Amino acid sequence: MSRILIVSNRLPTKILRTEESLTFQPSEGGLATGLGSIYQQDDNVWVGWPGLYVEDAAEEAYVCEQLAQNSMVPVFLTETEIRDFYEGFSNSTLWPTFHYFTQYATYEQSHWEAYVAVNEKFCRAVLELAGPDDTIWIHDYQLLLLPALLRQARPDCTIGFFLHIPFPSYELIRVLPWRRELLQGMLGADLIGFHTFGYMRHFLSAVSQLLGMSSQNGQIETGTRTVLVDAFPMGIDYERFVAAAASEAAIRHEANYREALRDVRVILSIDRLDYSKGIAQRLRAFELLLQRYPEWREQASLLMIVVPSRDQVAQYASLKEEIDELVGRINSRYRTISWTPIHYFYRSFPLEELASFYRLAEVALVTPMRDGMNLVAKEFVASKADQRGVLILSERAGAARELSDALIINPTDTGQLAEAMHDALVMPEEEQIQRMSAMQALVRQYNVFAWTQLFMDRLAYTKIKQHTLA
Ligand code: UDP
Repeated sequence: MSRILIVSNRLPTKILRTEESLTFQPSEGGLATGLGSIYQQDDNVWVGWPGLYVEDAAEEAYVCEQLAQNSMVPVFLTETEIRDFYEGFSNSTLWPTFHYFTQYATYEQSHWEAYVAVNEKFCRAVLELAGPDDTIWIHDYQLLLLPALLRQARPDCTIGFFLHIPFPSYELIRVLPWRRELLQGMLGADLIGFHTFGYMRHFLSAVSQLLGMSSQNGQIETGTRTVLVDAFPMGIDYERFVAAAASEAAIRHEANYREALRDVRVILSIDRLDYSKGIAQRLRAFELLLQRYPEWREQASLLMIVVPSRDQVAQYASLKEEIDELVGRINSRYRTISWTPIHYFYRSFPLEELASFYRLAEVALVTPMRDGMNLVAKEFVASKADQRGVLILSERAGAARELSDALIINPTDTGQLAEAMHDALVMPEEEQIQRMSAMQALVRQYNVFAWTQLFMDRLAYTKIKQHTLA
């Protein structure tokens, strides 16, 4: 029987070592919830790193056995591999380059070698599992070389690849010393998916300029095979957020926060700590709002949740300091005995509490400098049962291609952002409902299950097409 093998850097479960035992917890992020439903169907399997350094063979065997019960197969990585492959090449070379922050990118040969070695390690793990009829679905920038490695070992296997971050302009890609190898790695897949047509166009242009392969209608002829490239904007598990927002726990949390905040209007932002998210710029824009429109002082607060992330990478530690300082400065300058301008949380929250924040907020600020998609924007929309609320969305988030009824802004334009916050706070209810209902219809229809289905159908179509052309 044919199965789907999902392969990503991290498994949807992470294992934590506490004093005496190991605890298994769901990983954060959209991928885990999105694909959670399919990998547990039939004999499907998820292959990835469980987030734990195993100490001995007995522990390794125990972890494998536990994960197997939930259709997961671990790839164990060492501390050195995590440093050089994950924090190094993935997060200090590819991440900044693909998000247009080349000033933060490093180009270390040793990190590249670790990246190659870990991709080969994943390749061995997949080859041990995959049968001839299986479909292999590889995810994201940590595994760009894996499609070609697998293709080399099994020329006939079916491989889909999806990139969850932006694919930047050729001008950025050409800076990478290993640009050709990376593109050739991706071209091992049969179908390559991106969130937007813009990313897809950038990829086709890079392939044409760096590898000399032209394309027609998203179809690349590599000389030996046809590879299809297409856009699949990722969705969320819509009903899960509707249910979470309607839950008793979310309603209770909201009531508690509302009591503490009295009638202060809430502007919400939720992100991982990352320079691509535009957090510092957003804080400056909020300060500008308070300067330009003093009437919002004591009337509106920014509720800002920053989820700790990648604190082993230098830029993330200094960004954290910059945010701490800005929040401290703005709060100390504007606060009154009865009002705090910015409520800042540096931690993560369980779903019900996130849902209560989505309920509470009248305005959501999603203002990244660059973001592959941004799921928080879609989650806010799904959570607004009464269709009141305004989304302010950066034109450089993938989500802006779909959510055109948001207030679309340029996140570097602090003045425009401050004006958008003011406009959102005074927007008539009728207009809020009109915009929100249009966005809800779209987010509901193109949910994560539709996304998975579209990708899988397209991959099956690609295979059929290859066979008829051969
Ligand atoms: N999130 C979470 N716990 C939190 C805050 C956020 O699990 O305390 C989730 C949020 O619901 C969303 C994801 O983290 O699904 C962030 O995804 P997004 O696409 O917005 O950004 P990414 O972090 O992938 O760059």
